[in-house]
Amino acid sequence: MVNSSVISGFYKLSPEERLAIIKETAGLTDDEVRLLENTGSLPIDVADHMIENFIGVLPEPMGIAVNFQINGKDYLIPMATEEPSVIAAASYAAKMVRDGGGFHTSSTAPVMIGQIQVVKIKDAQTAKKQVLNSKTEILKKANEQDPVLNSFGGGAKDLDARVIDTSMGEMLVVHLFVDCRDAMGANAVNTMAEAVSPMIEELTNGRVYLRIISNLAVKRLAKAWCTVPKEAVGGAAVVEGIAYASAFAAADPYRAATHNKGAMNGIVACVLATGNDHRAIEAGGHAYASLNGVYTTFSKWIKNSEGDLEGSIELPMAVGLIGGAVKTHPIARIAMKILNVKSANEFAEVLAAVGLAQNLGALRALSNEGIQRGHMSLHARNIAVTAGAKNELIDLVAEQMVKERKVRVDRAEEILKELNQRPS
Ligand code: NAD
Repeated sequence: MVNSSVISGFYKLSPEERLAIIKETAGLTDDEVRLLENTGSLPIDVADHMIENFIGVLPEPMGIAVNFQINGKDYLIPMATEEPSVIAAASYAAKMVRDGGGFHTSSTAPVMIGQIQVVKIKDAQTAKKQVLNSKTEILKKANEQDPVLNSFGGGAKDLDARVIDTSMGEMLVVHLFVDCRDAMGANAVNTMAEAVSPMIEELTNGRVYLRIISNLAVKRLAKAWCTVPKEAVGGAAVVEGIAYASAFAAADPYRAATHNKGAMNGIVACVLATGNDHRAIEAGGHAYASLNGVYTTFSKWIKNSEGDLEGSIELPMAVGLIGGAVKTHPIARIAMKILNVKSANEFAEVLAAVGLAQNLGALRALSNEGIQRGHMSLHARNIAVTAGAKNELIDLVAEQMVKERKVRVDRAEEILKELNQRPS
């Protein structure tokens, strides 16, 4: 077992050499090592170049959410997730929304914010003016860094500066606004922020520390909305229940966290399947939901004058069709092909619709029969597998547990034992 976590030169070794050391120190069996060695459709040399200290892959199920119609176009949504019921709920909700004419969406230009932190300034307001007066030169310097992005019509378009009060005194924070076109843009923006920093130090007579993208991408928003006929959602009482659920979440951060997590179930699963950065999306979404000082929801549902359900969602959506792992991961490339979007904006809008669908799926279940019924039948299959059930026994054990409302490993083991003892 592990005595020390210091493994000198670990990063210089080959994946096989690293795995041999981990086998030894963590006491892995030959079978466990074989599982790690099997990297499936992600070639070892690709994976080893994607991250540091690579030893194996963690396969995650990928499925397709169906029934999505967005701005009149049909989409198949690839989703990678370990959570049962996410894909079923999204597909079911998309079908309800389809009955009301599908999702409608919009988005802003794909503009990200690069932050440059300036400290130790004598007069922050004067420093701010100096920066704003030199806007043209700063933007020119930023744009020299990425001629490829410029050739696609992107690049640094504008800047602003804010003076903030902190526990270590006043700071000037320069915001560089960069149109990232079809890239998520973190590398592009960070490079520009670093390149213009010496200029900003000179202009402000201050000291620049941080130069990094902000994930609170308020200039790169995606919006989706829909109307669901009351008949499609399960009747007037369900519409009312969903509206009450939405009002509850908007007013209460404890509920808002779970409401928003429900929407993220779908968004993150699709972002992950396409090799995009889901942490960036989650950070951005939750920060956006706190922008007014109190954490609230980024989606809402109301009952309209006809008694039907109307929903909308708006959140930052920094995703790309190129860059990061999008083009290097072979499965991400396939997911992108299935999704069939032509621009980062179209992709962002699809993700907003997916979030709204996922949110509706959860709220409909919560306001109706409760979340556990749908969850439990799928969760029960996982429990049955954990208890050792194989093939057709998985469904038999799961069904019995759901019928008894006892979805637990100890009960699964008992049922499995009973079934195995049954004469065939
Ligand atoms: P990237 O640098 O790999 O690709 C972007 C570049 O591709 C552009 O700068 C441009 O030169 C080029 N390009 C080619 N065709 C383009 C087109 N049609 N539109 C736009 N650009 C085009 O990737 P990126 O998108 O700059 O950065 C994404 C990566 O950065 C992700 O892996 C993310 O995880 C990582 N990252 C994120 C953070 C954060 O979110 N805080 C911080 C650091 C790094």
